[in-house]
Amino acid sequence: MLVFSAICPHPPILIPTIGKDNLDKIKNTAEAMKKLETDLYASKPDIIIVISPHGEIIPDAFCLNLNTKYNANFEQFGDFTTKMEFRSSSLLAMKIKERIEGTLPIVLTSIEQLDHGIGVPLFYLTKHLKGIEILPICYSFLDYQSHFEFGQLLKKEIAKSEKRIAVIASGDMSHALTEDAPARYSPKGAEFDKKFIQLLQRKDVRGIIKMDPKLIDKAAECGLRSFIILLGILDEYKYEPEVYSYEGPFGVGYLVANFKFL
Ligand SMILES: [Zn+2]
Repeated sequence: MLVFSAICPHPPILIPTIGKDNLDKIKNTAEAMKKLETDLYASKPDIIIVISPHGEIIPDAFCLNLNTKYNANFEQFGDFTTKMEFRSSSLLAMKIKERIEGTLPIVLTSIEQLDHGIGVPLFYLTKHLKGIEILPICYSFLDYQSHFEFGQLLKKEIAKSEKRIAVIASGDMSHALTEDAPARYSPKGAEFDKKFIQLLQRKDVRGIIKMDPKLIDKAAECGLRSFIILLGILDEYKYEPEVYSYEGPFGVGYLVANFKFL
């Protein structure tokens, strides 16, 4: 059963050993992640599904990463001390694969090392859930409607499972918010972020799937496909989106949102 779902950003600077003084500038995001951790812990999850934009993307297939165990660290970002380990959830992965193949292209991979799209949210969210089972999922470059349908299929398997399942859609918003942003500055960046949050709060899922491709392109986001999969999972549930924080002082939009079930 689905017990928790949220949208999280994944900047490595959220990790205190990496962000150092910069963490002060995104303290709203850090506080929101801590609040989310409390919510997640209270939901007593057995398994966390994490949808990341930064695994090994297969352009024309969705990807489930099924390994015997997973490691996460931030050595790539200069932190050689933080190390996390997670168990896998092979039964759920196999059931999801069975349900989806034949309808949408899906591939199983086996990668022990988790990417920062998974590592950063789990650093905050599993403080009191050490060694929990996880299932990393990678989106594809198929169209947005396929991502929504992929989410709807995941929902069926999640609903059928006796396990308490949490879903984290990991992704950053626009990378073009300021002149010194990682992507080329565009006023469309802020416009995209604002529009997405508005549509999310109105629960206008169709509006999100049909967002202007030119606007999306100029915004240079990485999270939209993750978020659409989550909206597919939430389809037909009664929920209220709660935006815990949004900010972008380094030119990248960080959104933390929880979905409260009604
Ligand atoms: Zn990203």
